[in-house]
Amino acid sequence: MFVEELEAAVAGVRRLLASRHLESVDGDEARRVAGCFAEVERLGASGVALMAPRVVAAGSYAKVGHGTAAEWLGSIAGTSPAAARRCLKAATSAVECTEMRRALKGGEVSASQLEILASAEAAAPGAVRRLMPMVADASLRELADEAARLRAIARGSQGARARRDRVHRFRHLSWRQDPGGGVRGEFLCDEVAWARVAPGLDQRAAQLRRDAHRAGSTESFGAYRLDAWLDIMGGHGSGKARPHTLLLVDADSLRRGRTGPGGTCEVDGIGPVSVDAARELIGEGSLQILVRDGVDIRTVTKTSRAIPQRVEMALVVRDRVCVVPGCGEVAGLQADHCDVDYGKGGPTELDNLARLCVPHHDLKTHGGWKLKGGPGKWAWIAPARPRSAGYIARARRLAAIKGKAQRSGP
Ligand SMILES: [Zn+2]
Repeated sequence: MFVEELEAAVAGVRRLLASRHLESVDGDEARRVAGCFAEVERLGASGVALMAPRVVAAGSYAKVGHGTAAEWLGSIAGTSPAAARRCLKAATSAVECTEMRRALKGGEVSASQLEILASAEAAAPGAVRRLMPMVADASLRELADEAARLRAIARGSQGARARRDRVHRFRHLSWRQDPGGGVRGEFLCDEVAWARVAPGLDQRAAQLRRDAHRAGSTESFGAYRLDAWLDIMGGHGSGKARPHTLLLVDADSLRRGRTGPGGTCEVDGIGPVSVDAARELIGEGSLQILVRDGVDIRTVTKTSRAIPQRVEMALVVRDRVCVVPGCGEVAGLQADHCDVDYGKGGPTELDNLARLCVPHHDLKTHGGWKLKGGPGKWAWIAPARPRSAGYIARARRLAAIKGKAQRSGP
C-alpha cells in the first residue's frame, strides 16, 4: 500500500516534469519550480539513505541479481560504484544516529550534507548534534570546515589504540584509470606498517634522485618515490617470476601505430592504452600479448608462464568486462561455464564460457542465477526463488568447507 502511494507520487512528479508548461514559465516561476525540484532531490536522497541500510542488512539487492550493494545502488541512482559506496557508508552511519534519522525523516539534508555529517559522526560521536543547527543556513564549505574541526578534536581525545584500530578497519589500496590518462591510486594504512616499508622506499627514491640529478634532472622527490615504489612492486631483482600482464591489441592498430574506430589496445584489468605504451610493454618479458587479426587471435610473444589455452585467450578478447548487463567490472574476472545449449553438435568450448566478476560468479554458483543468450545479447536470468546476499555468502562458505574436506579426505 505504502509503496503504491509513493509510486503514484513519483508518477505525479514525472508527469509535471514532462509537462509542456515548463517551456513557457517566466523567470520567477522557473525559480520556484527549480526550488521545488531541489526539494524533491533532497527528499529523494533522504529516502534512499533511510532505506539503503535495510537493503544491505537484508541482502535483498542479490534478489534482483546485483552482486554487491554498491552495484545495486549505483544502478538505481545512476552513479559510479565509488560514489554509491560513499553514499552507502554515509547512510549506514546516519541511521544509527537518532538526530540524523530525524533530519532524514524531515527531508532536511542533501546527499552532500549527509556525507559530511555521517563521516563526522563516525569519527567524532556526537558531532551531528553540534552540526545539525548549521544544516539549514550554512554553506557546504562551512559545514565541512566545522566537521573537520570536530573530527580533529575527537582525534585528540581518542585513545591511541582505538585510533589505530579504526585505521586498520578502513585500510585499503585502490586504483583506477584516470579519465585524463594514467593510473591514480590511494591508500590508507597503519603508521607502524608503513614505517616498516617507508625507509626502504625513500632510500631507493633518494638513490634514483641522486642518479637523475647527476644527469641534470630536477624532478620532485615524490616523483622518484613513485619510481622507487614501481621498481619494488615490479619485483626487479627479486628473482621471483611475476604474474603476467595481458595486453590485447589488434593487428591493424599495431601496424598504424594508433587505434582507429573499432580498434583495441588494452591492458587487461586496467583499461585502454596508446599503441606507443603497448609497444613499450611488448619490449619486456613476462607479458602476454594477444594480437587480434580480423577474427583470428594469434599469440605473438611467449610469456614467463605457461601459455594459456587458445580458447581462454579468445574469451579474454571477447569478454572485456563482466558479461552481466550493466555491471562493467574489469578487475578480477573469472571464466565460467555458462551451459549454453547450442542444439545439434553441442556447444563449442568458447560458446560455453563467459567472464564474470566475483560477486556475479557467486550469484550464479550459489544463488541459482543463470546466463542466457550469448555475446552481445547476454541476459541475467533470476531463479524461481531469488536468494538474499546473506544466503549466498553462507552457501559459498559451506561449499568452501565441503571442497576442503573432499580434498583432504581419504
Ligand atoms: Zn559483474
